[in-house]
Amino acid sequence: MGLRPNLLTRRAAGVASTTLALLLSTAAVGVVPAASAFSAAPGGACAEPAGSQANARVKPGAAATHDPNELTAKQVRERDADLAAALRERANFRAGAGATTLATVTIPVVVHVIQEDSTRAGGNIPDSMITSQISVLNQAYAGGTGGAATAFAFRLDKINRVTNPSWYPIVDGSSAERSMKSSLRVGGKNTLNIYLGELSDDLLGWATFPQRKLSSMDGVVVLNESLPGGTSTNYNQGDTGTHEIGHWLNLYHTFQGGCGGSGDGVSDTPAEASPAYQCPTGRDTCSATGLDPITNFMDYTYDSCMYQFTPGQASRMLTAWNAYRAA
Ligand SMILES: [Zn+2]
Repeated sequence: MGLRPNLLTRRAAGVASTTLALLLSTAAVGVVPAASAFSAAPGGACAEPAGSQANARVKPGAAATHDPNELTAKQVRERDADLAAALRERANFRAGAGATTLATVTIPVVVHVIQEDSTRAGGNIPDSMITSQISVLNQAYAGGTGGAATAFAFRLDKINRVTNPSWYPIVDGSSAERSMKSSLRVGGKNTLNIYLGELSDDLLGWATFPQRKLSSMDGVVVLNESLPGGTSTNYNQGDTGTHEIGHWLNLYHTFQGGCGGSGDGVSDTPAEASPAYQCPTGRDTCSATGLDPITNFMDYTYDSCMYQFTPGQASRMLTAWNAYRAA
């Protein structure tokens, strides 16, 4: 696993039989545990995000080709300044209107199932996977899996099935993605639009951060087979949805900023130098106090490894909700 064989896996999949043969022979001697998603560290090619609003979760190795996810320090400063400004606006508004701060929030959810055709491989996943996903979200955000309870609950309002081959797979940052979202997005800033489909570049999902002005791009894109019971090995318990919605609620990755500075802007998530993959128990990449938060929903570990938000993250999400998404 120290050889980054996954990079070869990624490029080899379905491409050249000679490369594939090499891959299989490598696997035969035990270097590659599986041909799917199992790996050493990613290539480290942390490209500039394709768009400052984009934030993804990736399988191991996907970062080698494309990672729209990592924010630069400048982007973090801009987002933090924007949050402060939004909170000031809200405070002024509240002082005038006498509104109160929301303590609990039920988020209406609309799920758009993008399909190439009517087959499972073409994106036609059953409703049961979607209702299971909503249950996973409600468990996770209520602290039911072992983390902090957040203010948020999720209510499935609609499943919208759309067969359109030109939107499948969903390609991050593409004109087709813009077209899809501008055609399908419904509701106000408080409405969570989830788009399910096969995704570009081995991505598991991506999300927009909250903005003061509602954009038609607002929402969360999730790999259809990452839902509970899906075929995405090690990433099929629904935590990609949990992670991406964390971004939609203004959370950064636990490894944002590495070991220095303000990191992810949350004081109770120990600093982490880089994303953690699989489930590396005891990992400790920064000299500051605390082991790496590999069990946090905002890292990149396997679904079976991540089970919690922290109280600081719960607070950050509620603050952002009141600043950006509350009615
Ligand atoms: Zn992410």
